[in-house]
Amino acid sequence: MSDRIRCACRRCMIRGLMGPAVIITVGVLFLLDQMRSGYFSFGNTYPVILIVIGVISLAAAAAPADGHFSESAPPVVPAAPGSAPTVPQSQFPGQGQGQ
Ligand SMILES: [Zn+2]
Repeated sequence: MSDRIRCACRRCMIRGLMGPAVIITVGVLFLLDQMRSGYFSFGNTYPVILIVIGVISLAAAAAPADGHFSESAPPVVPAAPGSAPTVPQSQFPGQGQGQ
């Protein structure tokens, strides 16, 4: 498995369900095709895969991304209500410490 640190925010958790959900959906559709071929043949039921992908994408887009982080961007820290927006700290040690 990959060694990269996984984000545990709601949006990334829902996004992580995409692969397993699509695989399960395809499996169920093939099972229906085997059991009751005809009306439930894969040729008739394949749009369900698109619906599953769309529903999960919609849920991921609507989910909050509080605490989200990635390797390229710093974590999103929601400001406490009533407080001034936090000024990002300098990323370079020594900067701003004039002599
Ligand atoms: Zn995330």
